[in-house]
Amino acid sequence: MIKPFMPQLVYIEPGALEYHLGAELKKKFEDLGVEIRKTTSHNQVRNIPGENHLQKYRNAKSTLVVGVRKTLKFDTSKPSAEYAIPLATGCMGHCQYCYLQTTMGDKPYIRTYVNLEEIFDQAEQYMSERAPQDTRFEAACTSDIVGIDHLTHSLKKAIEYFGNSENGKLRFVTKYHHVDHLLDADHKGKTRFRFSINADYVIKNFEQGTSPLDYRIQAAGKVANAGYPLGFIVAPLYIHEGWKQGYEEMFKKLDAELSDRARDDLTFELIQHRFTKPAKRVIQKNYPMTKLELDEEKRKYKWGKYGIGKYIYQKDEQEDLKETLNSFIDKYFPNAKLEYFT
Ligand code: SF4
Repeated sequence: MIKPFMPQLVYIEPGALEYHLGAELKKKFEDLGVEIRKTTSHNQVRNIPGENHLQKYRNAKSTLVVGVRKTLKFDTSKPSAEYAIPLATGCMGHCQYCYLQTTMGDKPYIRTYVNLEEIFDQAEQYMSERAPQDTRFEAACTSDIVGIDHLTHSLKKAIEYFGNSENGKLRFVTKYHHVDHLLDADHKGKTRFRFSINADYVIKNFEQGTSPLDYRIQAAGKVANAGYPLGFIVAPLYIHEGWKQGYEEMFKKLDAELSDRARDDLTFELIQHRFTKPAKRVIQKNYPMTKLELDEEKRKYKWGKYGIGKYIYQKDEQEDLKETLNSFIDKYFPNAKLEYFT
């Protein structure tokens, strides 16, 4: 996706119009001529157009719902942060492996929350409970927040909010390159801006509706030049024909783009591909032509919470992935920090 996301249909909760951002978004979409409908609750949006499941699923992913976040209890977000800060839920991307398909069930539409002050007040409470220790907030647990931020600027406000906080840190990850409006945010070095990257094969086959690798890498260069601490999540690590070469190409492109400054404080997180049985069913329903390898027989079973285990790579494959990726990080970014491989 080269152009920034623009919803085909917008739903607004009446309560959202009592907030400045809600009213501003209504005006923006009216001016743009986007169809606007009312919904009583952002949790129960009905009548998304489409004659069958696939059409409805696709239309939902281009539908934006403007609502008020009522649950202000934040989820935890281990291992990369203490809490998930809820600015939005849902994503316009079509990554076939994405876990949001399972966690969001029949609500694949995108929700943006306009009561930012209340959300920030809640964050303040969590920070004061942990002070003087830092508290890290992850803004991309349930959405790709950068992908919609050119419309809402909620993320930009959060970056500035945590920039001016005593003990708060913000982090998020994105597959989109639409970062220009975030470059002048007053981040004070307290936001780690991460990009999700992968071998070209994985992006082309399984990440429809997201930015191409070269665009993400260029955006990472801009973000680093704007002084943000930078990070990369390489996920899902996926074994395919020529994967070692594919991943090395990716590191070479990064190496060519990043300035010395970007390398001073650089992190990598590595996550191997995994799936659960319920996720496999949802993926095959939403993407019936998927080429994603989902054969339980080929994988190792790892017991999980609530009896739902996941299928990960066999031990020797995991070792190979870990060693190969580690060797590329050592070769191209010897000063970077590898946060985890999972
Ligand atoms: Fe899921 Fe991220 Fe892809 Fe969006 S961009 S569909 S959140 S993996």
